[in-house]
Amino acid sequence: MNAEQFPRPLPHPTEISAPHWNGAQSRKLMVQRCNACTRYVFIPRRVCPHCLADALQWVQSSGRGKIYSYTIIHRAPDPSFQVPYCAAIVELEEGWHMMTNIVGAEMSAIAVDLPVVVDYLDVGEMTLPVFKLSTSP
Ligand code: ZN
Repeated sequence: MNAEQFPRPLPHPTEISAPHWNGAQSRKLMVQRCNACTRYVFIPRRVCPHCLADALQWVQSSGRGKIYSYTIIHRAPDPSFQVPYCAAIVELEEGWHMMTNIVGAEMSAIAVDLPVVVDYLDVGEMTLPVFKLSTSP
């Protein structure tokens, strides 16, 4: 089995989420922020889930954060994923959370609260925001 025999399943951007995926292709981590209550919103939505205002604006994240939670996958749900790999929730320094992958690290080196920085993985026509361990805070 190899990845070419089993193409990795990819996201299907919608009208609402397209700015996030387009930003990734430009190496920018884009997130929505509510102009009414100033909170960050992820996953992309039409209205703010905190205050219900129709006032969401796309802004660029610093791309820096820390590992909030993670798991190491040894038996993938799809043969296109090469195991082991790390599925994680990263807490960005702006305070929002994102499900992603931690890449470029030994699985044994991954731990909660470690600093991470966004990186980008080009897969076919898509660019996926992933994170790598950061050596600087
Ligand atoms: Zn709001």
